[in-house]
Amino acid sequence: MYRTHTCGNLRLSDKNNVVTLAGWVQTVRKFGAITFVDLRDRYGITQLLFGEELTKQLDENPLGREYVLQAIGIVNERSNKNLNIPTGEIEIAVSSFSILNKSAVPPFTIQDDTDGGDDLRMKYRYLDLRRNAVKKNIELRYAVNRAARNYLHSQGFMDIETPFLIKSTPEGARDFVVPSRMNQGEFYALPQSPQTFKQLLMVSGYDRYYQIVKCFRDEDLRADRQPEFTQIDCEMAFVEQEDILNMFEGLVKSVFKDVKNIDYTESVQRMTWEDAMWNYGNDKPDIRFDIKLLNLKKPVTVYTDKSDNAVLINNADFKVFDEAETVIAISVPGCSEYSRKQTDELTEWVKRPQIGMKGLVFIKVNADGTYKSSVDKFYSEEKLKAIADAAGAKPGDLILILAGAEERTRKAISELRLEMAERLNLRKKDEYKLLWVVDFPLFEYDEESSRWVARHHPFTSPKPTHIDIMINNSQVIENAAEYLKHPYANIKANAYDMVLNGNEIGGGSIRIFQRTLQEKMFAALGMSAEEARHKFGFLLGAFEYGAPPHGGIAFGFDRLCAILGGSESIRDFIAFPKNNSGRDVMLDAPSAIDEKQMKELGIKIGS
Ligand code: ASP
Repeated sequence: MYRTHTCGNLRLSDKNNVVTLAGWVQTVRKFGAITFVDLRDRYGITQLLFGEELTKQLDENPLGREYVLQAIGIVNERSNKNLNIPTGEIEIAVSSFSILNKSAVPPFTIQDDTDGGDDLRMKYRYLDLRRNAVKKNIELRYAVNRAARNYLHSQGFMDIETPFLIKSTPEGARDFVVPSRMNQGEFYALPQSPQTFKQLLMVSGYDRYYQIVKCFRDEDLRADRQPEFTQIDCEMAFVEQEDILNMFEGLVKSVFKDVKNIDYTESVQRMTWEDAMWNYGNDKPDIRFDIKLLNLKKPVTVYTDKSDNAVLINNADFKVFDEAETVIAISVPGCSEYSRKQTDELTEWVKRPQIGMKGLVFIKVNADGTYKSSVDKFYSEEKLKAIADAAGAKPGDLILILAGAEERTRKAISELRLEMAERLNLRKKDEYKLLWVVDFPLFEYDEESSRWVARHHPFTSPKPTHIDIMINNSQVIENAAEYLKHPYANIKANAYDMVLNGNEIGGGSIRIFQRTLQEKMFAALGMSAEEARHKFGFLLGAFEYGAPPHGGIAFGFDRLCAILGGSESIRDFIAFPKNNSGRDVMLDAPSAIDEKQMKELGIKIGS
């Protein structure tokens, strides 16, 4: 037997027992004639004491870091206790030991504060995974996985695997493709998600499906994306949107409870997409803090019938506002006493290329009720007061205003809102706030190809009252600049996203389940009947054999873990992640394949 206990097991109550431990050498400390060794495994660290005789043996055969060691000895009470670790009251007085394997000197220290840089740790990921800081993330991932499975199982969901070698399912990204040796010249695609399969399972009668499943998307990798990532993918039959929202807020609450022991009892707030865009400038607002936008000039792409507050800034001869497509303000609590240096620094912040604004206008609402602004020349105190009142500012608050091109300004003010909240510590790590964003637009205008594309995916159903608009209009746009006037701009979908602390953690929709409507949808997306049959004949066919009404959702599992682990990066929660260029630096993949393989596959690399 290699071990009787783990390195995290033993306590004072085990005193005088003879035990066998096995693990990795974390540190070796020699004190005169005796030696202390910290032995580590997945469960913890236990101190070993080597007496004089054994220390002599160690002198001849020294232990190195990360050696694999087995030690037999008696559990003793430690004179010098370390109450910071669970095993810190005991040590093992070693009577015999054996080196099970040696280790080369590791390229970085296996400690919480390692000296290894990112690339080095990724190259030796199997060593990085030994570090406590990484192990804790992998454990959390498993806890989230278990909690999700337990909940879904308790609700009657079945885990059903779906294939990885499939035909492309367009979901907005590029496919990874796999050549077929047996069908030369033909390729499989790796699934961007199991979308069509889960819908087919509904047709087959498996009315509650889930899978914690890998998805593959060949996208340009923004900071926190991976080419292969994991979803908690779910689908239900005989449901309406309300059923789905209730079921899956139950899932997330259950994960909170099991993993973080958080009782999230309040019901999850719902917000329409238009309200989110109007009040927060984006569709995944962080609602842990209550700063809302004041639209001083209506952003037209939000297609809302809300009226703006342009009267507050008009007729002041202030060109910057007059000429801007959009003007948006936020009121930041308690910052009216910002110094010149601080407002200058904020101005520089919004001018950074990532934010891309030309400048920042501010109004200080002083504690004594007076106003001081960077636009005093143009706006009287009375006018400043009117803006401040509309922004909901109180004495002591600081109003920040951005003006410019619509899309950019809206993004910039969203970022500024988050930045100010960060600076004011309003984005508390241990506070979790869920939100459903509903009623998304069905289509999205793609400027590059000058056409409407599905905002979620082509299987999402329009709101029943908007079906006619879809059917009675074609997607042809005469004047691209005026795409917002096209009837498709107004069609809303039965689609929803779940947002946690400003991150989209899940998204889904009620699906189309009738062949004719699905065909109309493909047509609306500019697909010919021929093309639709070629790409989706299997689904259209299935819809002819009694497809039930259905809908579903998929959660970004890696992201959910990262948020619950208090981290910005999903990579930290994936055992073997890829780097920002999509490479596995440990495997050195992707890599060339040899001539013989190429030949078998019938592939030639172009010159
Ligand atoms: N398949 C969708 C996605 O990956 C999720 C869904 O609609 O259920 O985003």
